[in-house]
Amino acid sequence: MPDLDAKLTDIYTEVLKRNPGETEFHQAVGEVLESLGPVVAKHPQYADAEVMRRLSEPERQIIFRVSWVDDAGRVQVNRGFRVEFNSALGPFKGGLRFHPSVYLGIVKFLGFEQIFKNSLTGMPIGGGKGGSDFDPKGRSDGEVMRFCQAFMTELYRHLGEYTDVPAGDIGVGGREIGYLFGQYKRITNRYEAGVLTGKGLTWGGSQVRTEATGYGVVFFADEVLKARGESFDGKRVVVSGSGNVAVYATEKVHELGGTVVACSDSGGYVVDEKGIDVELVKDLKEIRRARISEYPGLRGGARFVSDGSVWDVPCDVALPCATQNELDARGAKVLVENGATVVAEGANMPCTPEAVRLLTDAGVTFAPGKAANAGGVATSALEMQQNASRDSWTFEHTEARLAEIMRGVHDRCLETADEYGTPGNYAAGANIAGFIRVADAMLAMGVV
Ligand code: GLU
Repeated sequence: MPDLDAKLTDIYTEVLKRNPGETEFHQAVGEVLESLGPVVAKHPQYADAEVMRRLSEPERQIIFRVSWVDDAGRVQVNRGFRVEFNSALGPFKGGLRFHPSVYLGIVKFLGFEQIFKNSLTGMPIGGGKGGSDFDPKGRSDGEVMRFCQAFMTELYRHLGEYTDVPAGDIGVGGREIGYLFGQYKRITNRYEAGVLTGKGLTWGGSQVRTEATGYGVVFFADEVLKARGESFDGKRVVVSGSGNVAVYATEKVHELGGTVVACSDSGGYVVDEKGIDVELVKDLKEIRRARISEYPGLRGGARFVSDGSVWDVPCDVALPCATQNELDARGAKVLVENGATVVAEGANMPCTPEAVRLLTDAGVTFAPGKAANAGGVATSALEMQQNASRDSWTFEHTEARLAEIMRGVHDRCLETADEYGTPGNYAAGANIAGFIRVADAMLAMGVV
């Protein structure tokens, strides 16, 4: 049970009752409500208009069957989801996740986080999330295409550049967005570029979108280090995961003079004291769709560890970039013992609440995902801007915009934490600043 202000306890209890068994969603709501005590004390208008209660109930939830035929001619059935959580600031915006662990509770937690993240970017985007329990692992290109087509055949009726704009997340990258866009275009007979983001560069995509989440988390961590009077130069960094976020976080850390000495996948982790070879990881994961255990065979001096945790590798900065609740109390204790000073979340909610408490109590600066990983969706909003004006920007210009947005998110978190009496607490600052922008829009629009 999170530590809540009396006014917020009822709302949390109602969320538990109304969404039974959805533990990740409970965790995400509890974590935000925990920060809002000083806000409801200072601004009674939010509680009077039941803004928190309205915010924790999605505007719309869509659950649908996805039937498709695999390469062996067998009929497969998956479940598809889209949770349209809040549209006070703009069309619902957030990725699609294809992973066997996906169920309504995961989609709701991600959609809820997305509201505050998107608000923090300062851009005109609401919050939503979707996905399926489809497992792309081991599936052929043809199977992935047929699944995406079947998924979009149902979802298209709920989407639109002014309504709901999906993108990628775990299991959904450029390949999947291509198949989804193709099917949307075929069904609607419209080349509506702004309906999906993460598109290819030759057909409406934005420069830097692929790199954005990974680059963004490092830009954010760099601002955190600067605020502590430090920099990435000479720092040992551990990144978890080896997907899109992890790969481009690693690339940017190396550009800024740090060394990423370890990364992982669900089978284990690799340690490479010379610095993880980004091109090799890209080739293994993106081209060959292979496991990280193959890394040491292709690069001397590295080792693969199949048991234990990537957080056992000593580092100054930890960037959890894999998935929710991957860094628990044990991991946090080891990081503290090994002298880590900054933990910045590249994934969504990768640290458990106990881990966050342990890190914060030990004086480790904790940067929450809804701030630190906002670079992905912020660049999606830049892609929407380019689509709306039928324009495309250079890599340099887009990256400069991303860096500026991440600096803005960082400063907003710190200033808000200060204003509400929790100086240096990025988690509180992110929750409060994200909340206020959405809450004010909801107040202005009345009870809808
Ligand atoms: N899935 C990403 C996130 O967690 C990006 C969402 C988007 O670009 O819409 O923020």
